[in-house]
Amino acid sequence: MSDEYAGVVKDGNLLLDDTDKVVETYSHPDAPMVAETPEKLDLSEYEGEHINVKGSLYGNQLWGAEVLGPIADVEETPNSSCLEGEQMSPEQIARKRAYEDALEAQDENLGLTTAGPLAFDGTADVLIQAGHFRHHSWDHNTGAESSIGREIDWTPIVTDEATRILEEAGVSVIKTDASLKTHSGDPGKIFKVSIAVFIHFDGSGGVTGASIGYDHDSDKPAADVWKEIFSRYWNFRWMDDNYTDAEHFYYGFAHTITSDAELLLELGDLDTIQQEQWLKPRLKWLGALVAHFLSQRVGKGNVPDPGPFQVT
Ligand SMILES: [Zn+2]
Repeated sequence: MSDEYAGVVKDGNLLLDDTDKVVETYSHPDAPMVAETPEKLDLSEYEGEHINVKGSLYGNQLWGAEVLGPIADVEETPNSSCLEGEQMSPEQIARKRAYEDALEAQDENLGLTTAGPLAFDGTADVLIQAGHFRHHSWDHNTGAESSIGREIDWTPIVTDEATRILEEAGVSVIKTDASLKTHSGDPGKIFKVSIAVFIHFDGSGGVTGASIGYDHDSDKPAADVWKEIFSRYWNFRWMDDNYTDAEHFYYGFAHTITSDAELLLELGDLDTIQQEQWLKPRLKWLGALVAHFLSQRVGKGNVPDPGPFQVT
């Protein structure tokens, strides 16, 4: 029995829309059953395209496959692939809310490391995460990539520079990376800071831009300040705040309790050549700009705006 399937051609196979299952396509009506393995249907001319295919699906093989044609582009929903599978679990959200409620009940005693169920793994003025850097072996998300750079290489440069500047200015910093992420069932570490930022570069397959993710409305004032500061120099596109669920429920938020804000900062899009070319020489400079922002938020250190990037 033959049916129609829609999917994207990926490495010569078909990634089905409905199931995310990758299927091999054979033109032969009963390909896997014949003694000689028949050639796969050549989908190379459709690589990366969204197509309709007719055929009979058995397991991961589509027999008697026939391409009906490309599917017309629909309005593309950006999907921040740099954050695919990076959301907080319901358990983590519940744990975080419990910490927040308990702290609030303790007359907002946010300056102290508390004992017992509210013990923290560390406290500081700020926490900065280099997104994807030192990801676990089970976590295959190494982030966005382009022809001129990889997110996983760029985020530690920004993070290291921001940390160096802040610490020299007397602001305490917890510097972390993707090793913060845990398996489900392991709640992982939790830190108490005034403000936390999680550094990323976007890459969604479409043209995006800079954006900010956060899980509380109370984070918005800080987000607005970052947008104002970065917009002094950033002349490319801004996406709406929390433009994907992954931004809104980023796993990093499960590991911080903040008195000011916690923000996922997408510093630009690695799928847009103009943006990535602008970003590449400015990674340390971005660290300085983030340091300025964080210093201002915590009211410590007086780290200045670095001003326009100077080629040295
Ligand atoms: Zn990322």
